[in-house]
Amino acid sequence: MARLYQAALVKLQIEDGRLSNNIQAIRGMHDIKPEQTPYWQFLEGTVRDVLQAYSYDEIRMPLVEKTELFKRSIGEVTDIVEKEMYTFEDRNGDSLTLRPEGTASCVRACMENGLLHNQVQRLWYMGPMFRHERPQKGRYRQFHQIGVEAFGMSGADIDAELILMSARMLKQLGLFDNVVLHINSLGTSDARTVYRSKLVEYFSAHGDKLDDDSQRRLQSNPLRILDSKNPDMQQLIEDAPKLMDHLDAESLAHFARLKAYLDQADIKYIVNPRLVRGLDYYSRTVFEWITDQLGAQGTVLAGGRFDGLVEQLGGKPTPAIGFAMGIERLVALLEDNNLAQQVDHAPHAYLLAMGESAQLTAMQLAEQLRDEIKGIRISLHCGDGSFKSQMKKADKSGANFALILGEDEINSGTIAIKNMQLGEQEHKDQTQLADYLATALGLNK
Ligand code: ATP
Ligand code: MG
Repeated sequence: MARLYQAALVKLQIEDGRLSNNIQAIRGMHDIKPEQTPYWQFLEGTVRDVLQAYSYDEIRMPLVEKTELFKRSIGEVTDIVEKEMYTFEDRNGDSLTLRPEGTASCVRACMENGLLHNQVQRLWYMGPMFRHERPQKGRYRQFHQIGVEAFGMSGADIDAELILMSARMLKQLGLFDNVVLHINSLGTSDARTVYRSKLVEYFSAHGDKLDDDSQRRLQSNPLRILDSKNPDMQQLIEDAPKLMDHLDAESLAHFARLKAYLDQADIKYIVNPRLVRGLDYYSRTVFEWITDQLGAQGTVLAGGRFDGLVEQLGGKPTPAIGFAMGIERLVALLEDNNLAQQVDHAPHAYLLAMGESAQLTAMQLAEQLRDEIKGIRISLHCGDGSFKSQMKKADKSGANFALILGEDEINSGTIAIKNMQLGEQEHKDQTQLADYLATALGLNK
């Protein structure tokens, strides 16, 4: 009976157009379509080159970790741990979580593999992160970050290096003019304790103006109120006591030194006393590169020092600093500004063949060209099709040349080469083809 009812219900829904037969992607998790991947590859390649120029090494961690890791590192009273994690029970009853960020995993991996003992590390990683947030422009449930972490260095020099490196990345991407650097210091946790009580005092006195989230944070994590995105709260936050006025002397000196490095490199910045970052584990330097071109989701790269985290996770005290860039937001900027056409994915040559014996030769010729010419991109027409329809595909592919093999060409050992830009066509011996293409395309044999 239940099954009958269910079948009837499904039928109704189909008629109603509510239930599609096609399974769709999960809300907030997106396919990156072939026309978008050139932007991603441009971004990833550019950032990788810069990382190499600073001698950073790649590390790869699993996408899934024990839930406890994130609770202990990110903090129980953060948005991420309170409401954004994809947590599930493994078949053997362990609580696991899809990583919402990379720093905790990276620290775990470094400790587990003995990478922090008596040595410094400069590391990076790239990949998807998962947070159950309300999807909107620039905010997704699966999103991607490139993360950078430096361990074992406590001075402002490494803080400056990371900021200069991020500036270089943004410059090479062509996005430097679209972003502004905000910096702040959170001091030590002792300094924050003092400040925290001042903040609670201030916000309690204005309890009626606090929204629900902030009411809750007033007890659990009052600094996070400063991070509120609620426009109605902005004036209240603006007038709140500033952490900068309650910093310890050493943190102030560290911050002054960082600014000296930035000034020397002529990197402009705004000291933003409201910059506190969403996670618990930060101390001293925090920074964000922010754009005003993406609406509310303007932070494209965010980082800071987390000197206490390794110890918090059971390791020896280890100074550390890192940042993460949001790939989707940077790609959106690249797209909006029409950058990254730099990556050319069109084939150099589209190889057509008419007839069975020409198809055999074409496959062989394509392989030979790939053997002989470094970096050549050949698209071989697969399947049958009239000359006209194959030429149409060659045209659509954006190839520089169409290479045409018909019965005549097979009999005479030649190939027709059509320059798609000029519309001119000539014949060459098949043995001359590689030389001809390498020269014409400026590629090395
Ligand atoms: P926000 O204040 O925007 O929520 P956050 O403080 O949660 O950011 P971090 O955890 O510092 O962000 O992550 C670093 C960067 O990763 C962000 O600056 C942003 O570019 C990107 N990012 C974070 N969450 C998302 C998301 N849900 N979708 C897309 N990008 C994201
Ligand atoms: Mg967030």
